Amino acid sequence: MTEHLDPGLYIVATPIGNLGDITLRAVDVLQRSSLIACEDTRVTGRLLKHLGVSTRMRRYDDHASEDQRARLIDLARGEPVALVSDAGTPLVSDPGYRLVREAREADIAVFTVPGACAAIAGLTLAGLPNDRFLFAGFLPHKDKARGDVLDGLADTDATLIFYETGPRLVRSLEAIARRWPERDVAVARELTKLHEECRTGSARDLASHYSANPPKGEIVLLIGPPRVLENHADPDEMLRAALSEASPSKAAAKVAKATGLDRQALYARAVELKAQ
Ligand code: SAM
Repeated sequence: MTEHLDPGLYIVATPIGNLGDITLRAVDVLQRSSLIACEDTRVTGRLLKHLGVSTRMRRYDDHASEDQRARLIDLARGEPVALVSDAGTPLVSDPGYRLVREAREADIAVFTVPGACAAIAGLTLAGLPNDRFLFAGFLPHKDKARGDVLDGLADTDATLIFYETGPRLVRSLEAIARRWPERDVAVARELTKLHEECRTGSARDLASHYSANPPKGEIVLLIGPPRVLENHADPDEMLRAALSEASPSKAAAKVAKATGLDRQALYARAVELKAQ
């Protein structure tokens, strides 16, 4: 490992479940740091004990006073100081933003020690388009606010990633089903842990499943992007092609699946086209 650890602030990712997911560099940096700033000394204490690391800890979150932050930044000027959160990557729906911002403003070196992040772990499992994705943190608890956030993202041409909790999952899925019945959705739960699962389907089907089987544990909720017409195809052309080998009803179902357009409207159009 590194012979010498430069002074500065080290943003260190920790596991999101499976303790084997800590990196060799993270262990090294935690061991060699003068201080570990953490959300909860009990949670981080357990990890350090498991790793055999004895570095002292100090509680930190972004609500800490200016003074506390200034003291950490001062220390990082001359010594290595690590920042961890309870799990995963600090700053991702976790404390650290203000500390990093102010450390940079104070010309303190900031280093990243990357590792586990639930949002990215969920994306790798879901099988949804991943060329573009947008992480939007936790969905709001209240129905109106949740709906507003979803509506604001309606035209975003990317897979949407949210953090969610078990008790709120079904209501969120119902809100998604009302807006985007045709989109592919994934629920990635308890990642890297004993009961890891990733279930995919429409929001409606997932809402039914989780109403009957209330989910436990930690959850990442992913929503595929709006479906686009293949090669900007004209729905009429797609219907005509489908009608050459299927009934109006089957043709409408096929085109609805491919495009996300309303099946009833497509059926009415298919009947018209067949009559021409
Ligand atoms: N900083 C963390 C990261 O990098 O993923 C996220 C912290 S945020 C406070 C905690 C939320 O992340 C949980 O409520 C859950 O939505 C998600 N999460 C964390 N660990 C998870 C896991 N093992 N499986 C699924 N979701 C997880």
